Amino acid sequence: MWERLLFQFFCFPTFQLFQHGLPPPGGAGGRGLANRSGRRLLVLLPLVPGPSVLSGETVWKLRVLGNPTDLRVAAVREAIAFWNSELEQVGAGARIGPMSVTGNPVPEDVLGEASRAVEQGRRPRDLSPWIEPRSDELVVVLANTDLMSFAVRGRHGAGGVVVLRSGDDAPLSLPNVARNVAAHELGHLLGLEHNDATGTLMCGRPARCRPDFFASETPRFFPLTAADERALRESSP
Ligand SMILES: [Zn+2]
Repeated sequence: MWERLLFQFFCFPTFQLFQHGLPPPGGAGGRGLANRSGRRLLVLLPLVPGPSVLSGETVWKLRVLGNPTDLRVAAVREAIAFWNSELEQVGAGARIGPMSVTGNPVPEDVLGEASRAVEQGRRPRDLSPWIEPRSDELVVVLANTDLMSFAVRGRHGAGGVVVLRSGDDAPLSLPNVARNVAAHELGHLLGLEHNDATGTLMCGRPARCRPDFFASETPRFFPLTAADERALRESSP
């Protein structure tokens, strides 16, 4: 309960919102939201446990909520390998650790409502009654409806949540899209924001990039920009 209360109190008021649509509220990185709670953040920060640190390396756990046989689970696993390679390459001193898969307890209408809120630049409703994410976890929810994928990031080691749209319909059903959308949304949880460089992983609105831009008959991850790599290095805990 204590952890849950902390999560509700600490994380959601300071969450940064990302979606493959509108820019985050308050400008790049959702700083408007963060600033309103800045004083509270400073007080509570020492109380919130972050990801584990082994031999000087920060390790994030990743929990997928969905059916273990869902094709998006494999896409998330590939995205983890992609990010661990990138994190090592830039010397970020962090990696995403073991992945677990459990059932998805979040009602579809709740996920849809949260997605619409993010799309409209509003803070989504509190998902902790269903998810109860730990502060050292990255949680990926596999929705079964055609909503807009989005990421909700905690600040300063407070974990975060990604919601992926149904994999049965386009664009996620298109070849090569699911792995890149999973990687894109996880990139937000790792501290990256949208850029306008077409053909790169983190391209997003207000640029014209859309998830179907990732479609390719050749399985591959779209690259990061040099600015993304700098941000990745600097934003790692
Ligand atoms: Zn995005």
